Amino acid sequence: MTVTFGASLNDALEAVGPLAERFASAGYRLYLVGGVVRDDLMGRVRPDNDYDLTTDARPDAIRALVAEHAEAVWAQGERFGTIGCRIAGRDYEITTHRSDAYGSTSRKPEVVFGDSIEVDLSRRDFTVNSLAVDTVSGELFDPFGGVDDLQAGILRTPSGPDISFSDDPLRMVRAARFIATLGLEPSEDVVFAAQELRSRLGIVAVERIREELDKTLRLPDPQPGLAFLRRCGLLTELLPGLARLDAAQVGAKVGRVEDRPEMRWAALLSDLAPDLAVEELRRLKPSSDLVTAVTWFLRSTGWSGSVGVPTTREQIRRLAASTPEGQSLEDLFSFAKLLGDSPDGLVEAVELLASLRVEEPDLDRPMPPLSGDQIANLLRVEPGPVLGQAHRMLLEHRFVHGPVSDDQAELLVRSWFDERQTSAGS
Ligand code: ATP
Ligand code: MG
Repeated sequence: MTVTFGASLNDALEAVGPLAERFASAGYRLYLVGGVVRDDLMGRVRPDNDYDLTTDARPDAIRALVAEHAEAVWAQGERFGTIGCRIAGRDYEITTHRSDAYGSTSRKPEVVFGDSIEVDLSRRDFTVNSLAVDTVSGELFDPFGGVDDLQAGILRTPSGPDISFSDDPLRMVRAARFIATLGLEPSEDVVFAAQELRSRLGIVAVERIREELDKTLRLPDPQPGLAFLRRCGLLTELLPGLARLDAAQVGAKVGRVEDRPEMRWAALLSDLAPDLAVEELRRLKPSSDLVTAVTWFLRSTGWSGSVGVPTTREQIRRLAASTPEGQSLEDLFSFAKLLGDSPDGLVEAVELLASLRVEEPDLDRPMPPLSGDQIANLLRVEPGPVLGQAHRMLLEHRFVHGPVSDDQAELLVRSWFDERQTSAGS
């Protein structure tokens, strides 16, 4: 079969040309692999700054070959055969061919370097990813029929999926990503093996699983990938609360909201009660910023029932003041709208927010009108809990009535303090 390369691959070959020559003159072969080859053969254009390469050179030889020409070299992956480098503004990850052996309790293989591109390709996750292009001759290596599978729209493993998924169960989660991003259908034996081996996900570091799920969730339409995870029982292992929902419901709303991790996760979990949703998310050990943001999105939009869309100035001020770092109430409203449950009053809430933004520039982080020292001087008290209480009183007043002048704030503090003294004395 003749295969024509598109702009991405031709551009990549041109960019790696000088590197390829250097490897060739030292007697090594260098191949482009991974997404850049696969996506180009599918007619997709990729951002051109991130390339995966494989070679028969050992890591120390790779390091020596790139050293003179690279703007930066990173070698954290050297144990696994990978040297990373930046040349002319593009990032390359160059990995020595591998022919690993796997143990039964870890997905981390005993690293064995190899000399053969065919063996290296045989241990890759899917046939569509087991493609390599020789960077000197431009020859395509496709020993497992990856191009045919791309054309037929099938996701298969180069060898038996039961062995492949048992060796590295993370591949089952990666399958979901490739199903969703490439529009492939998993072969029957892939589905069967994933069903059988789902509990082996337990040997995979949860961070690696989350990384793959993050990437899947940020695709234009993650739903087919999530449907695969549910169908194979993988979702039960990962997010059991979500797995109990109707199949059609899982992930149906994710593609509607903006492509930001916190919104995507919140959309995925939005059909669960907020507390359960947050518990599910925590199973994947995400950053505390993500948990805070997702919790805020879910709790603040749980207004379909008794809570109600914020419509008064007071409600909007309170909600704005709860905004976590990096988020905004505008985002929250647009999230609620895109999620599809545009509740009554949302349009009015957006308008009211816009006018409050003009009137009260410190809406998200209300500034106290008086400092602690000013209050202490005013009341002739030593610093202590009373200052915090006075600040809380002023903030409550601000939520209900809006900002006050310094003079008004002083009057408020004085009368609050007098009342407090009186009631303490009575
Ligand atoms: P993209 O960069 O578009 O997300 P990719 O296919 O390049 O997709 P990467 O995660 O960058 O995916 O991995 C690069 C290549 O390394 C893959 O194409 C695949 O050949 C191989 N690979 C990555 N992870 C695994 C794994 N767990 N098991 C086997 N092969 C893998
Ligand atoms: Mg890649």
